[in-house]
Amino acid sequence: MTGAFSRGRSATIARTETHNAASYATHEQHKGLGLEFRKQWVSTNDDRTRSEHGAANGQVVGMDEPFTIGGAKMEYPGDPKGGAKNVINCRCVVMYLEPEDEVVDDTPVIAQEQPQERQTDFTPPPVASIIFKQAADARKAVTDRLAANGLDARHPQSNRFRGRDATMWGKTDDLPDDVMVALEPCLEDCDRLATLFNVPALRGIKNISGRRANADMGDGVMGIHPDQMGKRIRGGKLTATGQRTNDWVPDHDNWETNKNGRDWTVSAHVDTGFEKFRSTVYHEFGHHVHQMYGVSVQTWNDNIGRRRFSWKPPVEVKISRTRGRKAPSVYGDTNYREWFAENFAAYFTGNRHLCDPKFVKIIKELIRDAYK
Ligand SMILES: [Zn+2]
Repeated sequence: MTGAFSRGRSATIARTETHNAASYATHEQHKGLGLEFRKQWVSTNDDRTRSEHGAANGQVVGMDEPFTIGGAKMEYPGDPKGGAKNVINCRCVVMYLEPEDEVVDDTPVIAQEQPQERQTDFTPPPVASIIFKQAADARKAVTDRLAANGLDARHPQSNRFRGRDATMWGKTDDLPDDVMVALEPCLEDCDRLATLFNVPALRGIKNISGRRANADMGDGVMGIHPDQMGKRIRGGKLTATGQRTNDWVPDHDNWETNKNGRDWTVSAHVDTGFEKFRSTVYHEFGHHVHQMYGVSVQTWNDNIGRRRFSWKPPVEVKISRTRGRKAPSVYGDTNYREWFAENFAAYFTGNRHLCDPKFVKIIKELIRDAYK
């Protein structure tokens, strides 16, 4: 709202989309309220606005009176009585003014309704912009998020991975406070990545203190080793500068022979302890994408539910058949899944220059086709 009203800011703005029907419905609705509304014509002032409509901007009439628009009498924008020349592509709206709204002189400015565009990329928020929650709040936010994500009907109800089962869906396993604090903004990123790839968002966090891995992923449940992940952020300084193992510059042509020059994982290419933590979370989310992209509950149940564990989701088939894969880290050489996850982490932590061009091609196709 702008300074158009000095008090009683209960003006209603009719939406411009589905214009005529919406304008009519809004008009009828306000008539039905039985209050002494007046109505004000508000045009969108730009160079596409009809001159008569621009001139009508700010015109106020009683509820039952017509506006005078370029000589035509119209009850509301889009009113058929205005004729085609006043109706087609009209983007004007009406503000309904309650009796106590006092109209002042400045021209009301309305924000253009932007059509909601699908997200086509993801960049991680700069660390300096992240507001880390207090431990208790972080724990609650993570728990609430997982519980909500667990209700997503796209999640299969049978498990593919051993050690992951329904008791973990919608839940967080016990993890130390500092890990929860660091995890909380990362899970928000994961939800955005889930939207980008049209896969269900993560539905569980498991404490994997008994395992050798830093983190892992299966059935939408991320495993986190409390010490391995925690040591990256421990000491109370989430943004403490971590150690960079070297300044390796990628050389796509020499990847095969240059093994010793590469870092163990791509998290070496981000600076702070928190970013290393986040890089691993993104790596695990990469696994979630190859496990879930293009998988319907039906295909999952048909294959996994009947214990056909050899079944591979479509992206896993695709990446396993990609010849001449080059990984941005030594760990990415382990197998095609880790190749995908390491490239994924590099790609979404702002290190796209490290990525295998074959991966970049695949990831762009996945984003493009996510909602086909
Ligand atoms: Zn991995």
